[in-house]
Amino acid sequence: SKTIAGEKGTASERSFVMIKPDGVSRQLVGKIVSRFEERGYKLVAIKSLTPSPALAKEHYSDLSARPFYNGLVKYITSGTPVVAMVWEGKDVIKQGRRIVGATNPQEADPGSVRGQYAVSVGRNLIHASDAFESATKEIGLWFDEAELSDYEPIAWPWVMADN
Ligand code: GDP
Ligand code: MG
Repeated sequence: SKTIAGEKGTASERSFVMIKPDGVSRQLVGKIVSRFEERGYKLVAIKSLTPSPALAKEHYSDLSARPFYNGLVKYITSGTPVVAMVWEGKDVIKQGRRIVGATNPQEADPGSVRGQYAVSVGRNLIHASDAFESATKEIGLWFDEAELSDYEPIAWPWVMADN
């Protein structure tokens, strides 16, 4: 049966990607969305919202012991919205992390989102799931199943062909 994060290692694999408040405030939403679209990934869900502290804390629960955790939750819940998305396609979790770049923008490849547009680890513009397990957790946390669309982009067969 199909899970909310699709099937790991197949064209149905899904990742949770979020443009953080600095990305929205800096009006980089279109440029960031375009990177995923142009690579050939499928937009399965998108919405903008200011997350509750409870949602932000749960999203980053693995980091709750870190010294920057409270500041991170404050940043994500600042009142400037985030753009929460689900993207689908072959290897989207790993490739999504490459599109995003290293956590510290100063170490990020200059062709990545963080390497092109960010300089501070505390304002690094974007989140992407780091594994199938976290994608499953994060998609379930941010979206209801009814918000996830099932359709075939017209480019899909061309993007996905392996023969
Ligand atoms: P990511 O998966 O690349 O986003 O990195 P992590 O999961 O390790 O950390 C989550 C988020 O916490 C990062 O994207 C940053 O926004 C923030 N963060 C991580 N490390 C630091 C740090 O050393 N200082 C501050 N201020 N924020 C950090
Ligand atoms: Mg992470």
